[in-house]
Amino acid sequence: MESILLLAHTEADGALARPALEALAAAKNLGSPLHIGLVGGQVQPAADLVAGAGAARILAVSGEAFGQARYATDAVAAEALCRASGAAIVIAPGTSRWSRVLPGVAFRLDGRVDTHATALATLNGVPAVTRWFYRQRMEGVLTRSQRPWIVLLDAGCVPVWTGAPGKAVVETVELVPVETRTTVTGTRSPEAGEQTIRPDAKLLFVAGAGWTKKQADGATHTAEAEKLILDFLRASQASLGGSKSLVDLSGEGEAVLRFMTHLNQIGQTGATPRHPKGLSTCCHGEEPHAVGWRFIGQRRAVNLDANCGWARGKADVLYVADAFAVMREVNALLAK
Ligand SMILES: Cc1cc2nc3c(=O)[nH]c(=O)nc-3n(C[C@H](O)[C@H](O)[C@H](O)COP(=O)(O)OP(=O)(O)OC[C@H]3O[C@@H](n4cnc5c(N)ncnc54)[C@H](O)[C@@H]3O)c2cc1C
Repeated sequence: MESILLLAHTEADGALARPALEALAAAKNLGSPLHIGLVGGQVQPAADLVAGAGAARILAVSGEAFGQARYATDAVAAEALCRASGAAIVIAPGTSRWSRVLPGVAFRLDGRVDTHATALATLNGVPAVTRWFYRQRMEGVLTRSQRPWIVLLDAGCVPVWTGAPGKAVVETVELVPVETRTTVTGTRSPEAGEQTIRPDAKLLFVAGAGWTKKQADGATHTAEAEKLILDFLRASQASLGGSKSLVDLSGEGEAVLRFMTHLNQIGQTGATPRHPKGLSTCCHGEEPHAVGWRFIGQRRAVNLDANCGWARGKADVLYVADAFAVMREVNALLAK
């Protein structure tokens, strides 16, 4: 049976984030001999967290230089751990840090990489990866004969591994010194004013360009739209998505919702988040937008237009109604 390496980077506190524990669960489900490789400023908290996962070895590259996401240091650390483990299959969480580095590591190892995997299973006795193609329009299941095979697993696809923590023995993998030309001086977030993207939220609330358009009285009501949406997000802790038209409006100098950035955009050229439920408001539900709803469980939409895209099989329920009136009422109910 081919051995597997779960390759994870630690967080600032030395522990593992949710996507790493999901990747661990996926690695364990394959039932092959497991190694764990950790990279980070400190790794002992992470190793203790996964002490009960049944890994034959826990290998690590740690130290100040590895506390920051930087291609040069991350690539040598990941390469060294892959080589030290001798694993044929490397499973890693599809975080932005690993997604940037591991394709290059696969090249250095003369291996192969697959990104955006959504499931891993054994098929005809060999590991097989499921992923979507053409912006989530087709699902494919593939196997590969080349080794090592690195697989980046998208977050939110597999339940997290939840074993008991313990006291782990960590084998340190020594590296030749790495020349670094990049220094991370800090992190800067987009100026969205408020955190509105919540990947773990039960509900995705989508705002479309309709919120900024002239309403029945011939005037726009952007200030009220902002308040209605923010009040709803605060009360419900929903994650905020936007249509392309809405996030693009600021570039056209039009009245905009100030907390909406391109990071909120859902769709073909935006994000494809995973939430159990979605509520679309003032958005027409055109295919390039609705394709980003592929992984939303139950879909509902509020639109004045009974012939909007949502009515054509893209939503489970379409409320033909004024979203201003609906959200005013919803917020009043939530405030009770
Ligand atoms: C290559 C390509 C890629 C694209 N990628 C994306 C993408 O990633 N994401 C994306 O979103 N779009 C994408 N688009 C654009 C997409 O086709 C649509 O243009 C866009 O989604 C329309 O945004 P909208 O529905 O918010 O605005 P509109 O089309 O202007 O619709 C506004 C809606 O609001 C409704 N409305 C107005 N007032 C109210 C009210 N008071 N109550 C209820 N409803 C009201 C109206 O009836 C209307 O249906 C892409 C297009 C192309 C060509």
